[in-house]
Amino acid sequence: MSVSKSEIVEMLRARGDAQAQLFHEARRQRAAAHGDGALLRGVVEVTNLCRVNCDYCPMRKDNTPANSIFVLDEDQIMARARAVHAAGIDVVFLQAGEIPKTTGIVGRVIPRIRELFDDRVEILLNLGGKKRSEYAYLKDQGATSYILKHETANPELHAELRYESLADRLKYMEDLLDLGYKVGTGAIVGLPGQRLDDLADDILLAQRLGVHMASVAPFVPAPRTPLENHPHGDVDVALNMIAAMRLVRPDWLIPSVSALEKTRPGGQVQGFQAGANVMTINFSDAKHTDRYLIYGKDRFVVRSAHAAETLSRAGLTAMGSPFVAARSAGRLGDARQAPATSELA
Ligand code: SF4
Repeated sequence: MSVSKSEIVEMLRARGDAQAQLFHEARRQRAAAHGDGALLRGVVEVTNLCRVNCDYCPMRKDNTPANSIFVLDEDQIMARARAVHAAGIDVVFLQAGEIPKTTGIVGRVIPRIRELFDDRVEILLNLGGKKRSEYAYLKDQGATSYILKHETANPELHAELRYESLADRLKYMEDLLDLGYKVGTGAIVGLPGQRLDDLADDILLAQRLGVHMASVAPFVPAPRTPLENHPHGDVDVALNMIAAMRLVRPDWLIPSVSALEKTRPGGQVQGFQAGANVMTINFSDAKHTDRYLIYGKDRFVVRSAHAAETLSRAGLTAMGSPFVAARSAGRLGDARQAPATSELA
């Protein structure tokens, strides 16, 4: 649907009756595109090491010496993938800080996960920026989809907070789309100096890129980061942004993220009421979730019972991945050639 920037800004401002009307229309569009199903994903966190230094993240490079670092090996990832399989979830979501080493570890384990699921699985990755040859390798190994959030479409703010350019981030996303991945992006609400105009640009950028999934999270101040004293992002603006995204692209997969729950108890039910249709359940071992410090040690970790209760309160039922498609049996377990890099060990 064609929506102008000023119309999106108007939606982001909605409160009271106007907000209720906005959410109602978003739910109507969601129902038309997806019925009453909500997609469940099972996430496994592969490592908390990261070479980037985002000002809002406790896993930033400068914190590495003080953090308790873990890097899962292939057998440890498989153990968690078996738990996702046993739960009847068909999206295995492998997430990690941005280090080159994950290309090799994840690339080698993907065929094993596919075999476990008899090839009926979406392998969703969130491993950060990589060379095109690495994305191609991971795709050949059986990856289906990739989340690489642009975080903010404001180029100055992006460079200021991430010490990397928005242009580089977008280049990664273009490579992923070009290679045939289903791609997700996402933004943060409540960054310092960010305006509603910037948030409207976040949605329009995602629309222009032609992604398949989009997310939004309210900023969560995390200890031991340069932004630890910056206030929380506004949950109402984040919810309105979910609704606006749903109206712009009814077919998008849009998660109701844990940062909503962390910032406002019941926030994930509200995310679904605003038009979201995805929930991610954490299948990492408890000893690792405490060290994956995405919002600091006391982040809200979504487990199966919370997801079931949230979906029930939102009046939705669990559905499988729309991206699952059986591949030819001959591809299972193929040992593909990894790209030449000394860091694939
Ligand atoms: S937000 Fe992601 S890329 Fe940035 S420091 Fe944290 S883990 Fe690394």
